[in-house]
Amino acid sequence: MSCFLFETHAHTSEVSRCAQIPAAKVIADYESAGYDGIVITDHMNEGSIGRLKNRPWDEKVDFFINGYNKALEAAERSGKGMTVLLGAEVCFDKDPNDYLVFGISEDFLRRCGDLTSLGLKNFRKIADENNLLIFQAHPFRVSMAVTDYRILDGIEVYNGNSSHNSNNDAAMFWADKYSLLKSSGSDFHGMWGMKPGGIYFESPVRTNSDFISALKENNYLLK
Ligand SMILES: [Zn+2]
Ligand SMILES: [Zn+2]
Repeated sequence: MSCFLFETHAHTSEVSRCAQIPAAKVIADYESAGYDGIVITDHMNEGSIGRLKNRPWDEKVDFFINGYNKALEAAERSGKGMTVLLGAEVCFDKDPNDYLVFGISEDFLRRCGDLTSLGLKNFRKIADENNLLIFQAHPFRVSMAVTDYRILDGIEVYNGNSSHNSNNDAAMFWADKYSLLKSSGSDFHGMWGMKPGGIYFESPVRTNSDFISALKENNYLLK
């Protein structure tokens, strides 16, 4: 398998309060680390859009996509051909978990309205209607709860954020047991202590639809 290496879990400091590195530097770091693509999965939670508490949803979307837009601009400027896709790490109200959502666009977010209030079950239907995939992030980290595997497309079996113990072995076991798709991601917040993750595609992935099809077909390898 030739390799098109893709990061599936990365944060920018423009949007995620816990992240240290601005989007343009994220792109430069990933280019020099040899990645060919990245999904910007900023938090959609209290620490990001929650800061705009009573503001209209459209303003929250403006804020949320800022990291992605800056990353996209940086990749275009550098001309090295890195693919930059928009994703999200969503925290639904009254749910302790984090879910990586792949396949979203700015337009989808504006049409959908505040998805954090929908809950996972309701969002599942919307995901199916819009060709999105939902992977539970680091499902076996302490403070996470086990989610019904039938409403997930997959789980993150490798999370490279070493400031938490994500019990990646347990996640791998769980994915095998329930035949879930698997993802590997660095959970990039800054370079400190990160053990990089990612997935390899056989051929270049340029768009959300390339990315979603390859995942659905399980046509990728874990880094
Ligand atoms: Zn974070
Ligand atoms: Zn994360």
